[in-house]
Amino acid sequence: MASTEWQDGCGAETPSPETPASARAAVRWGPQHAGARELANLYSPGKRCQEWISVILCFSLMAFNFIHLLANFHLGHVWYILLAMVAGILTADFASGLVHWGADTWGSVDLPVFGKAFIRPFREHHIDPTAITRHDFIETNGDNCMLTLFPLVNMAFNFLTLSPAEIYRIYPFYCYLFALAIFVTLTNQIHKWSHTYFGLPGWVVFLQTCHIILPRKHHRIHHVSPHETYFCITTGWLNYPLEKLGFWRNLEDLIHRVTGEKPRADDLKWAHKVK
Ligand SMILES: [Zn+2]
Ligand SMILES: [Zn+2]
Repeated sequence: MASTEWQDGCGAETPSPETPASARAAVRWGPQHAGARELANLYSPGKRCQEWISVILCFSLMAFNFIHLLANFHLGHVWYILLAMVAGILTADFASGLVHWGADTWGSVDLPVFGKAFIRPFREHHIDPTAITRHDFIETNGDNCMLTLFPLVNMAFNFLTLSPAEIYRIYPFYCYLFALAIFVTLTNQIHKWSHTYFGLPGWVVFLQTCHIILPRKHHRIHHVSPHETYFCITTGWLNYPLEKLGFWRNLEDLIHRVTGEKPRADDLKWAHKVK
C-alpha cells in the first residue's frame, strides 16, 4: 500500500483500486476507523481521575517553584539561566522523541494496566490523528503532568530545606530542570496545536512559524505511514539531526537483534483493524 498525506497532515494508507469499497472505507483513518473507535472507548473514568490529580499537582508545584526561583534570582546568573533554558528545551525535545518512539514502536495495548493507560493514546493518535484536537485540557496534558511531578516535588522540597548559599550554588541547575519540566509538561499541548488548523491564537502560530515550538508542516513528516521518523514533538529541533544520524533506525535494529521483537508490530495491527 502506498502512503499519502491528508491535507491536515495526517498520513493515510491508500487502498489499491482492487480493494472492495467496504474495505476501502474501513482502512480510512479517522474517528470512524474501527480501531480508533475501540481505542477511544478504552478511555476510563479511573484514567481521567489520574489525569486530573496530575494536572492539579503539577501546576501547583510549578507555581510554587517559579515563585522561589524569582525570589532567589541574582543578576550574576543571567547567562547561566539562558544556557540552562536552551539545554532544558533540547533535553525535553529529545525526551519527547524517546518516549514517543518507545510507545509507537514497542509494547502493546494488551499490556496489563500500562497498555490501556499509556500506549493506547499513541495507537489512537496514528489512526485518528485529529482526535487529539477534540481532547480537552485534562486529557491532553494529564500524562505529561504526571511525568514531571517527581522533579518538581524534589525541587520544592529543596527550596524549603536548603540554605540560601546552597540554593545559590544549585540555582543554574534548577533553571535547567524548570525549563525541562515546563517543556515536558507542555509537549502534548504543543503537539495538539501542531494538528490544529483552525482557530489557533495568533501567538501560537507565531511561535510555530519561528519554530520555537513544533510547526504543523514539520510534524506532518511523522504522520506518513508507517510512522518511523521525526518522533520529537516539543520543538522538533532534534528531528533533522537524529534522522541524518539514523538514530531511531539503529536503535530499532539493535533491539530487534537482541530481543527478536518486530518494531511497530502492535501499531500496524491497530492500523489494519477493520472491525
Ligand atoms: Zn507517533
Ligand atoms: Zn501527531
